[in-house]
Amino acid sequence: MARRTKIVATLGPATDDKESIGALVKAGVDVVRLNLSHGVHDDHRRRATLVRECAKESGRHVAVLVDLQGPKIRVDRFENGKVFLTEGAPFILDAACDPDKGTVERVGLAYKQLPNDVDSGDVLLLDDGRVVLEVEKVVGTEIHCSVVVGGDLSNSKGINRQGGGLTAEAITEKDRFDITLAAEIEADYLAVSFPRSAADVLRARGLLHAAGNKGAGIVAKIERSEAMENLEEIIVASDVVMIARGDLGVEIGDAELPAAQKHIIKMARSLKRVVITATQMMESMIENPIPTRAEVFDVANAVLDGTDAVMLSAETAAGKYPSKAVSAMGRICIEAEKQLLLLADSHSHDHSHNLGNLAGDQFGRIDEAIAMATMYTANHMGVRAIIALTESGSTPLWMSRISSGIPIYAMTPHLSTCRKVVLYRGVSPVQFGADTTDHALLNKLAIEELQQRTGLEDGDLVIITKGDLVGAHGGTNAMKIVRIGDMVEPDA
Ligand code: PGA
Ligand code: MN
Repeated sequence: MARRTKIVATLGPATDDKESIGALVKAGVDVVRLNLSHGVHDDHRRRATLVRECAKESGRHVAVLVDLQGPKIRVDRFENGKVFLTEGAPFILDAACDPDKGTVERVGLAYKQLPNDVDSGDVLLLDDGRVVLEVEKVVGTEIHCSVVVGGDLSNSKGINRQGGGLTAEAITEKDRFDITLAAEIEADYLAVSFPRSAADVLRARGLLHAAGNKGAGIVAKIERSEAMENLEEIIVASDVVMIARGDLGVEIGDAELPAAQKHIIKMARSLKRVVITATQMMESMIENPIPTRAEVFDVANAVLDGTDAVMLSAETAAGKYPSKAVSAMGRICIEAEKQLLLLADSHSHDHSHNLGNLAGDQFGRIDEAIAMATMYTANHMGVRAIIALTESGSTPLWMSRISSGIPIYAMTPHLSTCRKVVLYRGVSPVQFGADTTDHALLNKLAIEELQQRTGLEDGDLVIITKGDLVGAHGGTNAMKIVRIGDMVEPDA
């Protein structure tokens, strides 16, 4: 059975050459994340090119997601890459320190305002809370702290204040510059870090359009307590939301995360948006070739919650086993998906569970109505595959919001659409263009294309959706139920 849940993997020093990126692609990565918190534009440019080369060579579609740094407050870099901070020791965050000359005594700050924003008694959480400092006093550019929880601290790790409220303007100067890179490399997705409101998301979208990229999906990272308060408007303003559990957990408390994750996934799906569950999913695989049991459960539970995608961060960017982390994630997703189908079967007397809110909803659009009719039929008629002949990918997006075990093939002539839909749960892209307006011929060609990839046989039912006007965006207005081997012959 093919995997429906998608995998996002972050590139970094551990996945910086063609061989290791190729191994990620072979292991099944669907989206690569270029994390603009690290590295220079040339690194990301080169990686984006390698990803596309590797995808092409292995015959898969892989999307590129550019993740903006946002107003995250970070330490600068250390002389030796990292230091070990001992509990009880003093440590100084110094806005005037040389950015590359951090030591075990002090380190620089990218955000020069921080000394003005903190007070003695504040608790600062570094590296998603792995290292904890308490502020003793502020002297000019220096924040004198004592180490409450010690550990390794490496280059450019984040700083949050317990309780939130530190971060500045949502789109920084650096983000604006990085958006021009996203446009240049034709990123498929752009992630906005630390948005507080829909306006922040819309601003990023506007900047990306102005830079010449009108097609990329906008990902809003939910990682501030303000974002939880404005969740619905943020989801509506974006194409995708990321449950950014690292920063969100620091801001709202780690114990609140499971409920937040379920709530965000549910709301995103019902508002017809896509959702990525991120951070520390396979954390121990940075060092080990297999995940912990707890990590297996975390990935499986995100699948059961209904996430579209699960994400790897340091596991693939800086870990020892990047492609093993991807394949482990893949096999866990597949097993969890089987479990979901068994659950659905055992409730088959009650069909309402996989119809979303179909029962009470009014459909706003024709393509939405076709997508919903398709899912209703497919889930109740033993359909083997759904083919959505699509321009923008919006019909397969509607379809994938309804839970189902039936594969949805988004067939489109556009490479950009192929790369967009790789993130949608249950949707597989197929680049396919047929220069015909003869509907019977189009059915035949589309099914033949699919038969080359799957084991469809005579007698199998497939549903095809398409528009009367082939080539028009949002024009899907027809659903055909076709029995293979039993098709209307095209006009001679
Ligand atoms: P980051 O975002 O990895 O860019 O910090 C994800 C998170 O905060 O969980
Ligand atoms: Mn974050």
